[in-house]
Amino acid sequence: MRTLLLDRDGVINQDSRDYIRSPNHWRALPGALEAMARAQRAGFRLVVVSNQSGLARGLFSIRELNAIHQRLCDELARFGGRIEAFFFCPHLPSEHCNCRKPRAGLLLSLGERLGIDLTRTTFIGDRISDVRAAMSVGARPMLVRTGIDPINPDELAPCGPVEIFDALPAAVAALV
Ligand SMILES: [Mg+2]
Ligand SMILES: [Zn+2]
Repeated sequence: MRTLLLDRDGVINQDSRDYIRSPNHWRALPGALEAMARAQRAGFRLVVVSNQSGLARGLFSIRELNAIHQRLCDELARFGGRIEAFFFCPHLPSEHCNCRKPRAGLLLSLGERLGIDLTRTTFIGDRISDVRAAMSVGARPMLVRTGIDPINPDELAPCGPVEIFDALPAAVAALV
């Protein structure tokens, strides 16, 4: 079975400069959940991979993060979709952990724990850090323009050509 790796904020849901701190702050982007369900029907399993430094910043607790992910799952279920697993980095950038994207730790651990060949996966993100994480493990990167910051072409250039889509539905349409 193929696996589709998805960043969360700015890909599945609207991002916020104030962080998504509770289920009430969580808003799916238009068409995103339908697109995820579509990918699943086409044979992809879905795994979410995100940096959640708000945990280390004390902006929300693991209980709240779980509640946010439960809301995502509940809303996705309405379209018949299901997330296989959530992998997140809880650290601050200043902690220099191995799991915070663009580093590869989160992807490597999900590959190992779920038995996934990462070189056969696609990783859809909204930031160049997502592209770099994907490329570091041989996954196919895709970008969507629904993030909070515009994609900077100069920053992206060293990564080589990367497919960019307006939003998740278009990225999924290119895969299925
Ligand atoms: Mg993001
Ligand atoms: Zn980390």
